[in-house]
Amino acid sequence: MSRSKVLEVTIILIILSGAFVYQYMHKRAAASDTLNLVQEPLPTLKEQTLSDSSEETTEAERRAVAEPSRQDQVKQYVSGRKVEDLRKYNPHVSLLGVAPDWAMLDRYQESITKEDFERLLTSVYTVGETWREWIEIHEDYALIVQNAEDDEVDQYRLTFSKQPGVKISRFWRNPNELGPAPEGKPLDGMVIAIDPGHIGGEWAQMEERDFAVNGDEPVREGEITLQVAQMLKPQLEQLGADVVLVRDSLDPVNPKRPGHYAHAAWVELEGRGFVPSAPALEELRNRMFYRAGEVRERAKILNTIIRPDLTLCLHFNASSWGDPENRQLTNESHFHILLNGAFTSGELAKDDHRFTMLKKILTRSHGEEAGVSAAIAESFVALSGLPAYDYGELSMRARKINGNPYLWARNLLANELFDSPVVYMEPYVMNSKVDYVRLQMGDYEGEKEVNGVMRPSIFREYTKGMIDGLVMYYTEQRGTRKAEEPSTFK
Ligand SMILES: [Zn+2]
Repeated sequence: MSRSKVLEVTIILIILSGAFVYQYMHKRAAASDTLNLVQEPLPTLKEQTLSDSSEETTEAERRAVAEPSRQDQVKQYVSGRKVEDLRKYNPHVSLLGVAPDWAMLDRYQESITKEDFERLLTSVYTVGETWREWIEIHEDYALIVQNAEDDEVDQYRLTFSKQPGVKISRFWRNPNELGPAPEGKPLDGMVIAIDPGHIGGEWAQMEERDFAVNGDEPVREGEITLQVAQMLKPQLEQLGADVVLVRDSLDPVNPKRPGHYAHAAWVELEGRGFVPSAPALEELRNRMFYRAGEVRERAKILNTIIRPDLTLCLHFNASSWGDPENRQLTNESHFHILLNGAFTSGELAKDDHRFTMLKKILTRSHGEEAGVSAAIAESFVALSGLPAYDYGELSMRARKINGNPYLWARNLLANELFDSPVVYMEPYVMNSKVDYVRLQMGDYEGEKEVNGVMRPSIFREYTKGMIDGLVMYYTEQRGTRKAEEPSTFK
């Protein structure tokens, strides 16, 4: 190349990069214009770091989550935030979801028989026949659409195993893998995570999880689930388990706040074809914060730091107020336990939901979930006498499991994203005549009269109902290890 040619090329390159820089700056300016339309400004990284470090960490919090690892998680999250805020809308993943890496299923190749795969897929994880649009079952393998954008060519091939009982790689252990437990300690060596549902405190109203009539102190679901969690913890420890609370205060686990989702909410609404209005943006960014963002954050901590053998998700059910202006307590109270499953047609169409459903099937968590949940349902009903909640046989979002009226499969973000077997409790109706009164009475020893009937505290009933079931299930499944014979050589 001659000297003048080199000069010419250099000049062209300078002009081109200048144009790129101009375009980039222009886009940045446009993006910040978009952000300015949203009322709440994004806190700067510095502000965020300062407010995080000024929060006091309690001893319980330190014990709940190993500190360095949690710090790493937060750091990772904060550094990842820029990427997410500039996210592109992807119509094929769920809210705040990311396109899955299907190669992560490679470790489960030839680990499940065709029969087991088909049974779990059709009797637990799906409702109806729409799964056929996404999954093709052949004699020796299944083909699963990886990317809905390109469903013809882009399929994941899962080869079936010829025999059952192939060892699977996963962090949680079933009773068989845990082995016999010492007398009186049926949960010995187990790691149990407790996820007190929702947040409570100043966020309860935003979560639509506070209930009050006649100017009473509000009942906040995020607070009473935490109360039950704190009562369960020492009792489970007494039985030999290592117990970790995913949340042990009324603060979100999510380091972000609604304002952090302003841009993501905008991108999401625009992507769905809406002209984002201020109320719609606010509703969505709030939901991204307290539900999608919060549950995803808990899942990250659960699956990477706690890695439990079993997760207990604690909730109290509620019934919608007939007339929100004139709140009346209802007569109904009921109970059910949710297991992961019953992915809806809409969920199957999302790449990330489809991927997690496959992962759930392949890690075989259902058997454990069904076993533990059935035992807890039995003991819980024996104490509370609650009738079963019924979604109905025709429900397209829930299905009854093993003919047990108390066990329903339903896909919720928590029981989907938590990798271990999950017992998702939905007892009581917070705004029912009897449960509301019991919740207002708080915790107490012995029995007190509730609407003419002597009842224990609702918190003790909740706790004991779960403990009895867990003791029953693990004693039976693990068996008891004989105390070692005293050595004759001293
Ligand atoms: Zn709840």
